Amino acid sequence: MSEVHQNNPLNPSSNGAQIRTVDIAVVGGGIAGKACALGLAQLGLQTIEIAPDLGQAVPAPQGDQWGQRIYAFSPSTQKLLAHLQIWDAIDHSRMQPVRDMRIFGDRGGESDQLHLSAFEAGTPQLAWIGESNLIEHTLDQASRFQNKLERISDVVQQLALDEDGARLQLKNGGNIRAKLVIAADGANSPIRSELGISATEESYSQNAVVANWVCTRAHLETAYQWFLPGGDIVAMLPLPNQQVSMVWSTSLENAAELIKLDQATWTQRLSNIADGAIIKQLGALTLNSAPATFPLRRIRANRFIGPEENPKVVLIGDAAHVMHPLAGQGLNLGLRDVTTLLNILGKRESFRQANDKVLLRRYERQRQGDTSALLWVTDKLKKLFSATSSTERQLRNWGLGIVNRSHFMKRRLIERALGDIDFE
Ligand SMILES: Cc1cc2nc3c(=O)[nH]c(=O)nc-3n(C[C@H](O)[C@H](O)[C@H](O)COP(=O)(O)OP(=O)(O)OC[C@H]3O[C@@H](n4cnc5c(N)ncnc54)[C@H](O)[C@@H]3O)c2cc1C
Repeated sequence: MSEVHQNNPLNPSSNGAQIRTVDIAVVGGGIAGKACALGLAQLGLQTIEIAPDLGQAVPAPQGDQWGQRIYAFSPSTQKLLAHLQIWDAIDHSRMQPVRDMRIFGDRGGESDQLHLSAFEAGTPQLAWIGESNLIEHTLDQASRFQNKLERISDVVQQLALDEDGARLQLKNGGNIRAKLVIAADGANSPIRSELGISATEESYSQNAVVANWVCTRAHLETAYQWFLPGGDIVAMLPLPNQQVSMVWSTSLENAAELIKLDQATWTQRLSNIADGAIIKQLGALTLNSAPATFPLRRIRANRFIGPEENPKVVLIGDAAHVMHPLAGQGLNLGLRDVTTLLNILGKRESFRQANDKVLLRRYERQRQGDTSALLWVTDKLKKLFSATSSTERQLRNWGLGIVNRSHFMKRRLIERALGDIDFE
């Protein structure tokens, strides 16, 4: 996107192309954008979704080859997907419930660990682990049958805002007039920057290396996470078919090296972690997907709506916030943005249009607490476990044991992980 014009009268298209008029334009074709566009159309709002990768539906993942992008989905995400009527359409043979989480400190002490259990929390599971393309595929299928939703494979090049809404000019020459624009255009959100919404941004100087493994011992429906001396974090998330999905957060140099390893060297590296704890827990591991790396950073947009005086744009998902994956919550948080927006627009007073600033400000207020709290906790945990002083080392390992012995603190942690949000 190259330009945003504010307070310009919206002229008919200068290049003569026809202007399509809709209630909402959703920009972005990630899971947040797809879920939001489907939900808005289900509310009866005429919606257009625009993203460069919407030309073809994502194929359903099949067979033994599992997708590279694996996510932990919280119960709040499950509720949203159920509300959109796609949860039951998902191929559940490719989804793994997580009944337990075990988190280990970096001293190797018996008590330096935290165990969270669905049984103790009185919930069927703490999370689900599944492939990104499985969810995207199911969202694509549902979107095809939604007659209030049109999808365009294109890129937004220019955004002009006025009193009544926005006009979006697309790279391929199309023009769209919308009352409200939803920016679901990812961490580098061109819409966020073009609107001049500032963001607090920090690189963790780490990359995540992800890969799927077949393990010889049962994972016991447990998600494991090891904090390692020096700031590395290794998570092994359970998958169906005796597999685990690894997320290894490590220095840029180590990530560049890991991505090139052959099977034998990987086995050796994994055996060295936490005195062999991974291998003791999961047995021998065989690589089942090509490893991939992702940069890790924290971003928080300072506003979730814009422009300030007369907002016509709402930020959702990574366009609004990005966090370290140690808690597996980034997308879940983005989907809670979607739930909040659908709640607010679905329950709006009959005299309010979808772009009424009272509604948009309501959205922003409601998303601030959840976002700030999760970003803060994730960031502080990451930094506490990267610190090298012996005091901090003692503190963090001692802290794990303290939380582990406190039912109250565990309950609060689980409530946060479940993502306490519902449809009104
Ligand atoms: C290693 C790792 C592990 C993770 N694990 C988890 C996890 O277990 N659980 C969890 O909840 N989260 C997890 N996350 C976070 C999660 O990956 C992100 O939060 C999520 O993918 C963001 O989705 P999104 O739809 O907001 O953005 P994106 O998926 O980035 O989508 C952005 C979309 O916008 C489109 N776009 C951009 N510019 C334009 C434009 N000008 N015009 C039109 N379209 C445009 C792009 O093409 C794309 O379709 C993890 C992240 C990492 C790095």
